[in-house]
Amino acid sequence: MADYRQMWSDLGMDLEKHDILCEVLPDAFGGVYLSQENRPEGMDYFNFVVAEIHGVRPAELIEHQQKGGKVFGTFCVYVPDEIIFAAGGIATGLCGGSQFWVPGGEKVLPANTCPLIKASVGARLDGTCPFFQIADMYIGETTCDGKKKAWEILNQDVPVYVMDLPQMKREKDLQAWEEEIKSLMQKVEEVTGNKITIEVLAENIKLINKKRNALARLYALRKTSPVPISGKDALLITQIAFYDDPGRFTDQLNLLCDELDKRVSNGEGVFPADAPRIMITGTPMAIPNWKLHHVVETLGAAVVVEELCTGVRYFENPVDQSGSSLDEQVQYLAERYMKTNCACFTPNPGRIEDIMRLAEEYRIDGIIDCNLQFCGLYSTESYLVQQAVKKAGIPVMHIETDYSEQDFEQMRTRVEAFLEMLEK
Ligand code: SF4
Ligand code: SF4
Repeated sequence: MADYRQMWSDLGMDLEKHDILCEVLPDAFGGVYLSQENRPEGMDYFNFVVAEIHGVRPAELIEHQQKGGKVFGTFCVYVPDEIIFAAGGIATGLCGGSQFWVPGGEKVLPANTCPLIKASVGARLDGTCPFFQIADMYIGETTCDGKKKAWEILNQDVPVYVMDLPQMKREKDLQAWEEEIKSLMQKVEEVTGNKITIEVLAENIKLINKKRNALARLYALRKTSPVPISGKDALLITQIAFYDDPGRFTDQLNLLCDELDKRVSNGEGVFPADAPRIMITGTPMAIPNWKLHHVVETLGAAVVVEELCTGVRYFENPVDQSGSSLDEQVQYLAERYMKTNCACFTPNPGRIEDIMRLAEEYRIDGIIDCNLQFCGLYSTESYLVQQAVKKAGIPVMHIETDYSEQDFEQMRTRVEAFLEMLEK
């Protein structure tokens, strides 16, 4: 990575602690990613983004701020980026995916909080992530109890605006979500000083839809056999989608997909055509959480789809672009976002329908339902997921894990036994 120490110091970061992270990340990335064979050349861009993760994009965000722009940090796929970009802001995903940040979160949170929340709080309070330092405002949501309380703690350090996400999907809930999007619009207009117009919102709905379409194109390519790209690489791309510049990301991803198209027509893949095809369902895998994908793929199976927020939940269902008034545009945004099926909803049959549909579309041999430790929502919903999947005759295993490496060997043994069972 180039030298960004002055920038990090100006952001008030703890440089000594941050150096430790900078030292371990290249090795971790090299071991998981660069060791793969036959990677598409188009991954070079995404490798570069990771190599410069705390440099290039943070510098761009600071440049935006120096020109008077604002940066909003988000933590959930329900927060509509379209509104933030339409107000001239930049949205950047902030979810923490590393064990490195967990102890910092544990200083203020109960130990039995999910690692994603602990890492996110720790990254801010320890001052070891430039993205967390740069954001002018965080946009939280009321998806789970841990997050709701974490916002109050973070709000002592940085302004946090919270969207009240309904937890049912009745008509009145949809209307309530529309109102929440309108309130967010007012808030970002107030913070940025820019008024959102129909034209500029339409432009940004298109911008984010293009990003979704590029991701949908990547995932469609993963339906083929042999699969032209590893699950690990696809996961990395989705993780990067949360914070990279949306236009540049879309262009780079489309270039990669052009290359993958050629691989598919040549019958070229990264795994043999008979490798077991695995779907991973459950809680999001924020960067740099690559543990389960690494375990599965080093055992010779291919992860071909993720029913995760760092997966299909992020890009499925483009927004209807035909809204001819701000009210109509907001209505279409609300409709699109409410189609996402997170375990925070009750009842949540849509998620099981999604899993069954994806199992068929991606010709899945087995499902690994994986949730982060202490995520009550997903671990409880796992009962219903496994019940439905087993009824359909699809082999499934459940894994509960955290960000540490402590359960790596145990996870490997369990996944190995599961894959052996698939091969029988
Ligand atoms: S799992 Fe639910 S709460 Fe977490 S990012 Fe996804 S939609 Fe948001
Ligand atoms: S993984 Fe579960 S507990 Fe953690 S933030 Fe997401 S919904 Fe909340």
